[in-house]
Amino acid sequence: MTSLTKKQWLRKKRRRKYIKLITVTMLSMVIVFTIVMMFVTVLKNTHNNGYTVLDFLQPSRIIAKPGITEKFLTPNEYSRPQTPLAEVNSIVIHYTANPGTGAESNRNYFENLRINKVTYASSHLIIGLEGEIIQCVPLDEISFASNDRNNDTISIECCHPDATGKFNDKTYNSLIALTAWLCCQYDLGRDDIIRHYDVSGKLCPLYYVEYEDAWEAFKDDVMSYIDDNAVEN
Ligand SMILES: [Zn+2]
Repeated sequence: MTSLTKKQWLRKKRRRKYIKLITVTMLSMVIVFTIVMMFVTVLKNTHNNGYTVLDFLQPSRIIAKPGITEKFLTPNEYSRPQTPLAEVNSIVIHYTANPGTGAESNRNYFENLRINKVTYASSHLIIGLEGEIIQCVPLDEISFASNDRNNDTISIECCHPDATGKFNDKTYNSLIALTAWLCCQYDLGRDDIIRHYDVSGKLCPLYYVEYEDAWEAFKDDVMSYIDDNAVEN
């Protein structure tokens, strides 16, 4: 066994230090990579029947977001329980069944449920008679609008001028732009646009239950709007 000179010993010591540093760096990179991949896998698996958070960040088509006024309800168990909405598989269309009332008053009705506690009800979005859109509930929370589909749908309530339940042109046009935007955000298609009636048999939205042609025409209008305005991402 040959003894090392001081210089050789120092060189050896330095080499060991470098090897240690490189090993620690590589191990750290492997650990970080593994954690990131685990996170991505969990996200994909958790929501693999609908959109994933990653899909939401990278929709395949992009369309301009319509003007939406956010007036979130005060958290409460009757209209905004803050239950996470894990996936979005459909957009559900409703009518207010309250002729002549606007978006603001319907929003206030939901807000007041936390005080009068008469029922459990809310909607993510309300479209008024002037075409104005009010958002009551964030899109990553459930609303109380669509019975046993509350846990995987986004709800839109539409105001209407009279008892027929037919939407006026301003409401209808905003509904097309809003539904188109939501379809693009969540990669949904024509069959993913449904009525409250399709969930529970309730006559909602009344006019579009009574006139099947009008309902089919609405879905066609949304698809045409997407074709004309969306761009591939
Ligand atoms: Zn409804």
